Amino acid sequence: MGFKSDIEIAQECEMLPITQIAEKAGIDDKYLEQYGKYKAKIDYNLLNESDKKDGKLILVTAINPTPAGEGKTTTTVGLADGMQKLGKNVMVALREPSLGPVFGVKGGAAGGGYAQVVPMEDINLHFTGDFHAIGAANNLLAAMIDNHIFQGNELNIDPRKITWRRCVDMNDRQLRNVVDGLGGRTNGMPREDGYDITVASEIMAVLCLASDIKDLKERLSRIIIGYTYGKVSEQKPVTAGDLHAEGAMTALLKDALKPNLVQTLEHVPAIVHGGPFANIAHGCNSVTATKMAMKLADYAITEAGFGADLGAEKFLDIKCRMAGLTPSAVVIVATVRALKYNGGVAKADLNNENLEALEKGIPNLLKHVDNIKNVYKLPCVVAINAFPTDTKAELDLVEAKCKELGVNVALSEVWAKGGEGGLKLAEEVIRLVEEPNDFTYAYELEGSIEDKLNQIVQKVYGGKKVVLTANAQKQAKQLEALGFGNCPICVAKTQYSLTDDQTKLGAPKDFEVTVRNLKISAGAGFIVALTGEIMTMPGLPKVPAATKIDVDETGKITGLF
Ligand code: ADP
Ligand code: MG
Repeated sequence: MGFKSDIEIAQECEMLPITQIAEKAGIDDKYLEQYGKYKAKIDYNLLNESDKKDGKLILVTAINPTPAGEGKTTTTVGLADGMQKLGKNVMVALREPSLGPVFGVKGGAAGGGYAQVVPMEDINLHFTGDFHAIGAANNLLAAMIDNHIFQGNELNIDPRKITWRRCVDMNDRQLRNVVDGLGGRTNGMPREDGYDITVASEIMAVLCLASDIKDLKERLSRIIIGYTYGKVSEQKPVTAGDLHAEGAMTALLKDALKPNLVQTLEHVPAIVHGGPFANIAHGCNSVTATKMAMKLADYAITEAGFGADLGAEKFLDIKCRMAGLTPSAVVIVATVRALKYNGGVAKADLNNENLEALEKGIPNLLKHVDNIKNVYKLPCVVAINAFPTDTKAELDLVEAKCKELGVNVALSEVWAKGGEGGLKLAEEVIRLVEEPNDFTYAYELEGSIEDKLNQIVQKVYGGKKVVLTANAQKQAKQLEALGFGNCPICVAKTQYSLTDDQTKLGAPKDFEVTVRNLKISAGAGFIVALTGEIMTMPGLPKVPAATKIDVDETGKITGLF
């Protein structure tokens, strides 16, 4: 279409040395660990040793998306660039991309167009090695489990009840289910095993919720790897601590715990750190990254994965609760494409003007706005992320509908214009963060697992009630008996619908959500409630993005998007 690709735009940027970005962010040299010229890690001791007042926290979330993503990262970055243009001291805190999507369908996750973080090639590929460290810690624990069984199994671990899986940061469906330990007595105990993608590892969630080394080690030690032999009532959970693995795992992770500093195309300091899956985990960057951005800047802008029913719900009910954070405003990204999709238009027809379908999709947006305003009681604004394929009539219609219904709205053109295209949104956010704030969680931690699920389903999704299968009821009882009843709940469900059925678009009512499986992530500190089949190891598509990526003799990378 004649547009420059994300990587072309990124490579035209004249980055500032990371030392200059650190200086701009007010990071003393003693806290800065450089990884080459344009990347650095920040020592988290800065958090305790600085006496600056925390800045305002702004969350960027979205309506139920199309499969291509609606531009939350792009909007987060462009909003920060826009606020900088207005003379504000601002930082962003984003997730690190996983290699799986980079080589699969979605491509990179460093923003898009003129609203990106750089160096985008590094951020999308390996970066500072955090994910490799997480993979190593995950697989160390796996190796120690099987070795323990091989060496006599003093802890009486039932090999059929091991819940800990191996991991690799790649979309590799071949590894979903494997049989290992084959080859006779000296080669281990044969058992059914499997791999998850690294971002789905509980270690990732743990790293992102840990406040410091001590907390990290305690959380790792609590991780449940499986259960002992015996009837359900006699089974005992076995932890990483029982295997004495937490010390070595923490040693592998000590640098990964430190937030990474980079910059936006317009040289706003940006922290990119941690990247848990948004379904079986909470889906936002690390607590240390968010706190660091708040500690350093007056405005810290961050993003939560998927739509607001999943990403924002977990950000607010899990992360903010655990870390004691209160956001000052929420930006809900909406696109004409996603509204049309919610109005029933097929993926292939999203580029054609269709005002009728657009209007039909608006209830989805309104439900998310209502949740932020009336469930969580936070100020919010809708950012319409303008795509080149949107028509003026479509953009005008969304804006007019929002205004008619009393919803704050701003057109965002950051993808095409960078910070300049985000000024209206920036002005609105700067105004909103000063509004009164009665931040409230969707549910309290007391009460049964089923109660909490009912509150999420009724308040946030707009459904009638949750239904636990017989299996899930048994698990709920077991988890409550083990003392995990008061943990927050991390719901794993489709991102495309407010329901657990991805074909039910818009804002359905009177539906039930079926939970089939309940699992404790004791290190992370939440209960995962699985609705339907949730993939923890994605596969590559017929033509993987990897087939288009290349590098020339000088080391210049092409084809990343
Ligand atoms: P999310 O964070 O919601 O998943 P991203 O910001 O990563 O979404 O954007 C997803 C993809 O869509 C990226 O490739 C990005 O370049 C592209 N994109 C985002 N906003 C726009 C826009 N306004 N116009 C065209 N492409 C866009
Ligand atoms: Mg994103």
